[in-house]
Amino acid sequence: MSGILVIGEVQDGAIAPVSAELLAAARKLADEGVGGGISLAVMGDDLSGVSAAQAPGADSIVLISNPALKDGGTGGYDAPVLAVAALNESKSPDVILFAKTDFGAVAGPRLAFKLGVPVAQDCIDIAVDSETGRVAVTRPVFGGNALAVYGFNGDGTQIATIRPGVFDPIEGEGSGSVEEFDASEAVSEVRSTLVETVVQQSEGVRLEDADFIISGGRGLGGPEPFEQLQELADVLGGAVGASRAACDAGWVDHSYQIGLTGKSVKPTVYLSVGISGASQHMAGLSGARNIVAINKDGDANIFKSARFGVVGDWEKVLPAFTATVRDLAG
Ligand SMILES: Cc1cc2nc3c(=O)[nH]c(=O)nc-3n(C[C@H](O)[C@H](O)[C@H](O)COP(=O)(O)OP(=O)(O)OC[C@H]3O[C@@H](n4cnc5c(N)ncnc54)[C@H](O)[C@@H]3O)c2cc1C
Repeated sequence: MSGILVIGEVQDGAIAPVSAELLAAARKLADEGVGGGISLAVMGDDLSGVSAAQAPGADSIVLISNPALKDGGTGGYDAPVLAVAALNESKSPDVILFAKTDFGAVAGPRLAFKLGVPVAQDCIDIAVDSETGRVAVTRPVFGGNALAVYGFNGDGTQIATIRPGVFDPIEGEGSGSVEEFDASEAVSEVRSTLVETVVQQSEGVRLEDADFIISGGRGLGGPEPFEQLQELADVLGGAVGASRAACDAGWVDHSYQIGLTGKSVKPTVYLSVGISGASQHMAGLSGARNIVAINKDGDANIFKSARFGVVGDWEKVLPAFTATVRDLAG
């Protein structure tokens, strides 16, 4: 048993940025002593746009092409889990890494169940325990109020899902070898049929990739003000997010939610509007470089993390701010 198997995802036909982050996590483990090399598995029905150059840090790229793995394998979970289980049998890696995306957060535990091994979800750091030589992961606990370090029971494969945004991708172009893996026998065992995939089309930048995010909370009072947030996001080429309270109220879809049970983001500027800054919301902001807050309550928790803040009513502050930014942007 040796090596690190990184489960890649495909975005717009190429290896997704989040997979490049996983390769950086894998490289850290390799540098700390996990031997056997780093393999990146990429699944899909058409992998013609995938190349080793997109995967700096990988020693080898394993292409698993099969019609059942449509949409990079993320259209359903059975086929990719069966494909990775078959690859695991052939490679016997020490460690398997998924990104904690919509796909990885489900596929990782399913694979662990199938293999009968432990899984650690939502890790924000990963290292080799110098005493045991096994992997130790750091995870937020108690709603993001504390961090805990965990090891894996047994001596089998260690599976972890890594939170997006916590590792910086390795720069440059990859030069790993490329091999193909035939998973057709494994995926022929798929018993469920994917009837329909409903893709919510969002225009502009994805929250996970945005350099500027403006987020709204319960303090906005309803769904309409999100249009004003979108206006500023458009001026700055950013994306709109939300607190769970705003999503739970039905003002915006849950795909906007940032935090412990939502998305993790890493913008240069995160502008929160009418958000109190509960620890579960802040848990999604560990990668944000600068937090700016507009809140009418000067004691709101968000100000403890904010680099700049305005204590005031967003209805007065935001339109003036947007107008000024628009002027400056020309
Ligand atoms: C297990 C668990 C997981 C959770 N996961 C998440 C998560 O992933 N993401 C998340 O966001 N939350 C999450 N929560 C919920 C979290 O605890 C908070 O309840 C939530 O973040 C509060 O949202 P909010 O800040 O929008 O609302 P509130 O806490 O109600 O804050 C609203 C803020 O708006 C301000 N305000 C009101 N009117 C105005 C105005 N006119 N102008 C300016 N400011 C104004 C108020 O002063 C207040 O600070 C989770 C909770 C649990 C228990």
